[in-house]
Amino acid sequence: MSAPLLEVENLTVEYAVGDRPVVAVRDVSFTIGEGEVFGLAGESGCGKSTIAMAVLRLLKEPARVTSGSIRFAGEDVLAMGAAALRGYRWRRAAMVFQSAMNSLNPVLTIGEQLGDVFTTHEGATRREARTRSAELLELVGIDDSRLRSYPHQLSGGMRQRVVIAMASALRPALLVMDEPTTALDVVVQQEIMAQIQRLQRERGFSVLFITHDMSLMVELSDRMAVMYAGRVVELGAAARVFDQPEHPYTQSLMTAFPPLHGPRVELVGLADRVRAAGATADGCGFHVACPPDRSDCSTDIPDLREVEPGHWVARSTGAVGDATTTPVPATKGAGR
Ligand code: ADP
Ligand code: MG
Repeated sequence: MSAPLLEVENLTVEYAVGDRPVVAVRDVSFTIGEGEVFGLAGESGCGKSTIAMAVLRLLKEPARVTSGSIRFAGEDVLAMGAAALRGYRWRRAAMVFQSAMNSLNPVLTIGEQLGDVFTTHEGATRREARTRSAELLELVGIDDSRLRSYPHQLSGGMRQRVVIAMASALRPALLVMDEPTTALDVVVQQEIMAQIQRLQRERGFSVLFITHDMSLMVELSDRMAVMYAGRVVELGAAARVFDQPEHPYTQSLMTAFPPLHGPRVELVGLADRVRAAGATADGCGFHVACPPDRSDCSTDIPDLREVEPGHWVARSTGAVGDATTTPVPATKGAGR
């Protein structure tokens, strides 16, 4: 088994605001293999974007990584100096943000912006840059006549395609996509997801795919982690986690969004009392929503345990299978 491309180990990130820092990400571990699509799910505020920004070393004050490590192809990302970082971002790992409008420069044409990537990073001539930009646009299903357009002349979906094209321009080994289609309507969203999927299969890059939409997640991801209040509560093969969620929070998340296919189901939201507890509880913030036999989770946060090969769940021992399940040895078991 080759080493994973990305290894996030026991990552903790705080935002230093006021005298009590906000711990946004707590002790999070996961790996992403070569060519693997790894999903990160969980509701707004659970720490997904913070992880994405940490992976690309884009976190700014008041954010601080207080413990843990991030390795990319074996290299310590948190220790990279300025020169190493310049080579890392865009070229080896690139990011697609939620809002395309904020990622594109409104006063430059699409051609100028795409071309810049090739001239700046690869020393391409303007002519070469134009040819490669046109190829890139075609790859995401946009006619090259659009190279002359400004961002505001494109639809939201087209703009997001351009951003995806730009992020994949230098053939990075990892694409981090943070809610890449959330701002778009459902039909466009589907088209773009299909495009991303095609591109990923063609080029074989790895993806860290972030969304709060479970249907999208399971369509695209090989494996996924579900986060709640800064922690990973469940991790496993996406289809398995989707079909047979083991953690009560995952179970509630699965019913909180409509499936893309199949019959309509009633949507169940998370109770406010759960959210409130998540913010303050010493133990697992979700314990108030769990059956009484797991009340020990109100004081002790259960470790992730492997309930079947490759499927990890943070539930108290009594609640999962038999007592022979083993606690997680750092991240190693979370690889594939
Ligand atoms: P997600 O992407 O899952 O919605 P984020 O990673 O953006 O979550 O945020 C996780 C938590 O970190 C939030 O609940 C918030 O409390 C905190 N946070 C995020 N950004 C900041 C910031 N700039 N300053 C202070 N706290 C922040
Ligand atoms: Mg976010």
